[in-house]
Amino acid sequence: MKRNFTKYIGLAFFVAGVCILIFALSTGQIFFILFGGIWTAVGFYKFSRIRKLQTKNFAWYKNKYPGAISEQGKVSCYACSNRSVRIRNLFQGTFTREHLCGECGATLFYSEEG
Ligand SMILES: [Zn+2]
Repeated sequence: MKRNFTKYIGLAFFVAGVCILIFALSTGQIFFILFGGIWTAVGFYKFSRIRKLQTKNFAWYKNKYPGAISEQGKVSCYACSNRSVRIRNLFQGTFTREHLCGECGATLFYSEEG
């Protein structure tokens, strides 16, 4: 659940950034306007990126491309129907693995690092 932790850190930065920004705008302090603006942007970016990765999970893939999952539960590529799925770590503090097609390289879905 490191990923959720990172997501809420992002959310905390965003909320703190907005508070600093409101305070700075009401008092007209340029430095804190910049500071709050950066926190708001960075926090929002981190939060929305992880939320997007969490949304595109296996259940999402199964729901969106029901034909790409065989009756035995085997995953195939939605684009080229190839059955070889590669997994790679995304890093960048996302604690996420990307599942991609071994043939055409299309991203299929994401899962959390075990
Ligand atoms: Zn493919």
